[in-house]
Amino acid sequence: MRRFDPFREGAPIVPELSSGAVIATEDGKKVLMLHEIAEDRWCFPKGHVDPGESLETAARREIREETGLTDVRLEREIGEISYRYYSSERGTNILKVAVYFLARSAETPVRLERIFDRAEWVATEAARGRLAWERDREIMDGARRQLRKPQPPVESA
Ligand code: ATP
Repeated sequence: MRRFDPFREGAPIVPELSSGAVIATEDGKKVLMLHEIAEDRWCFPKGHVDPGESLETAARREIREETGLTDVRLEREIGEISYRYYSSERGTNILKVAVYFLARSAETPVRLERIFDRAEWVATEAARGRLAWERDREIMDGARRQLRKPQPPVESA
């Protein structure tokens, strides 16, 4: 069943916050992309921020749940995007705000959550072209800008 539809004017709307990451290889040349089965689209790991959670904790948890990767270092926040859609499951529109971090990980095989059928480490120049949504492309552009800058200190926690 189709879970999501285009925004429905006049229907109720609820806000929802998600957090995730563009995970780059240590050399910054590739990023991890996940292919979502239901909509046949490529995306980055992200998901719902639980009550009381920080953006960083939620991003790490979602990365672990969706990819199985545990040795991931979060760097700086790239930024946030927002978009609207209709959830037939919930019977409401959703205003989604999604915050993305830049993260680093060794290029290792992943263990995918079942909503995805493929994961690929994709060269940064090619990654943009796989994204269906303009806002996602903006996040990828932000990630590339950060990857070109000198690296910040490694986080302590
Ligand atoms: P989450 O991973 O945050 O729990 P989800 O998997 O339930 O979320 P989304 O990835 O937010 O859902 O996708 C919900 C709907 O919004 C889908 O139809 C998707 O195609 C669409 N969508 C996803 N990203 C964008 C975007 N950047 N701009 C516009 N629409 C988007």
